[in-house]
Amino acid sequence: MTQKKHTKVLIIGSGPAGLTAAIYAARAELDPVVVEGMQPGGQLTITTEVENFPGFPEGILGPELMQRVKEQAERFGTGFIFDEVKDVDLDVRPFVVHTASHGELTCDALIIASGASARLLGLESEKRFMGRGVSACATCDGFFFKDRQVVIVGGGDTAIEEAIFLTRFASKVTVVHRRDELRASKIMQERAMANPKIEFVWNAVIDEILGDEETGVTGVRLKDTVTGETREMATDGVFVAIGHRPNTEIFRGKLEMDEVGYIVTKPDTTATSVEGVWACGDVQDSTYRQAITAAGTGCMAAIEAERWLAEHGEG
Ligand code: NDP
Repeated sequence: MTQKKHTKVLIIGSGPAGLTAAIYAARAELDPVVVEGMQPGGQLTITTEVENFPGFPEGILGPELMQRVKEQAERFGTGFIFDEVKDVDLDVRPFVVHTASHGELTCDALIIASGASARLLGLESEKRFMGRGVSACATCDGFFFKDRQVVIVGGGDTAIEEAIFLTRFASKVTVVHRRDELRASKIMQERAMANPKIEFVWNAVIDEILGDEETGVTGVRLKDTVTGETREMATDGVFVAIGHRPNTEIFRGKLEMDEVGYIVTKPDTTATSVEGVWACGDVQDSTYRQAITAAGTGCMAAIEAERWLAEHGEG
């Protein structure tokens, strides 16, 4: 398709950062358009209870929170395109954004809020058993492990939160962590330690996921990170929760990034190395990675874009 549509402000991504940028840009009457990506609403749509987003003292379900934010952006006239961005051309003005099924879109200002995705272990067996006992999303797949034993890899807040969630279904949840100390916050650690269904295997990594074509996953081979010794452990499922990587593949070589691939923004702003392009949320934040900080930087990006457009006679 060679259809070309122009907008003043185009936003890539529909998590808390992208949608907050949309609310602000729409209220500034910039008629923003959001390209939603393959996971509309972003990572919060695959979480359960969000307990730390201000304004919801009883907590709120992640998908519901994102639905509400989307409605708020729609109320002020944001346009939504359900599509995936395949490439961008930032050397030309207006910028060109190539989408999978809506052809080329052009814009004067571009706000990147493409977020981050779950990291995987990188084992061949992990790929082979993905969806057949291996999962990177406890919220999505926990239900399939009723009264079964599962392993979760990782020691951060995600791993611990998912371990606690999995105890609703599984008969036993074993957290495998490569060190002898968790990275997760104290409150999450305490909840996990107090849960009788959760056990810990310290100083260990998964060396191989074991199984067969018929049953799927049947166990894991664990490697002790101190002694190097290996041993097998039976399990019905493996949940991988070892952090995230930024979704910046399409911007490689076009915007300044750090060694991991996070987009570099100028101090105290969301401006990227290309004038007219802003980045907000997890795509540029390796430190906080929270819904509220993503929303905050989305707000900043929209305000900065609005001021820039006004200065350049486009707003
Ligand atoms: P983190 O980066 O915080 O933790 C990743 C964990 O995976 C670490 O324990 C790390 O080990 C381990 N790990 C990394 N690579 C490997 C590997 N190859 N093999 C084995 N283990 C590995 O990511 P999270 O997704 O847990 O959290 C991301 C951010 O989101 C954090 O800031 C967190 O606080 C936040 N968050 C907050 C929540 C809440 O407040 N309710 C819920 C979920 C996330 P090591 O510790 O040794 O580095």
